[in-house]
Order: sequence, then structure tokens, then C-alpha cells
Amino acid sequence: MQGSDVVGWDVVRWQGALPFAAVGHKARVAEVRKLCAAEAGLGIVGGWVAGNGLAAVVADTRKEIRCLLS
Ligand SMILES: Cc1cc2nc3c(=O)[nH]c(=O)nc-3n(C[C@H](O)[C@H](O)[C@H](O)COP(=O)(O)OP(=O)(O)OC[C@H]3O[C@@H](n4cnc5c(N)ncnc54)[C@H](O)[C@@H]3O)c2cc1C
Repeated sequence: MQGSDVVGWDVVRWQGALPFAAVGHKARVAEVRKLCAAEAGLGIVGGWVAGNGLAAVVADTRKEIRCLLS
């Protein structure tokens, strides 16, 4: 492949793709979880609370749903 073969390009910036980048994040998640637990029937899921990656998000979502249904 040569430079002349490239017909186009783009730069994609993924905003918020690394929710654990900030110091103190774990403590903030624990506080939000505590506040939500006080509201019956309220669950929160997603990368911000579970960590990056589908494995973390899916496992945490299953746990959250089990808690809501119990
Ligand atoms: C480029 C890239 C590659 C990745 N590759 C992998 C990989 O190979 N394997 C892996 O395990 N993980 C990968 N990840 C990480 C994974 O995608 C995330 O950890 C996961 O998708 C987070 O799930 P989420 O539900 O928190 O957020 P998202 O999947 O981003 O879902 C949030 C949803 O909320 C919607 N939304 C936002 N604001 C509003 C609003 N105001 N009202 C209504 N809807 C709204 C959005 O449209 C979106 O559909 C990748 C991430 C990126 C950015």
C-alpha cells in the first residue's frame, strides 16, 4: 500500500470512554450506590459504576438486577 492508496481518514474522539480516570472515583461510586440503595426499586448500571469493558458492565448489571428482584 502506498500513501496515494489512502482515499480518506477521520479522527474519532470517544468522550467519557475512560470513566475511572479521576482520583476518588471509587468513593464517589460507593456514595451514589448508597444513595440509590435507599430508594426502593432504583438500580444503576453502566461503565461509570462498573468499570470499563463489557465483561465488567454485564456482570455488574446482573448483580444489580438480582438485588432489585430479591
Ligand atoms: C472505541 C471503543 C472500543 C471498545 N471496545 C471494547 C471491547 O472490545 N470490549 C469491551 O469489553 N469493551 C470495549 N469498550 C468499552 C465498552 O464499550 C464500554 O465499557 C461499555 O459500552 C459501557 O457501557 P455503558 O452502558 O456504560 O455505556 P454505553 O454503551 O456508551 O451506553 C450509553 C447509552 O446511553 C445513551 N445516552 C447517552 N446520553 C443519553 C441521554 N441523555 N438520554 C438517553 N440516552 C443517552 C447513549 O446513546 C448510549 O446508547 C470499548 C469502548 C470504546 C469507546
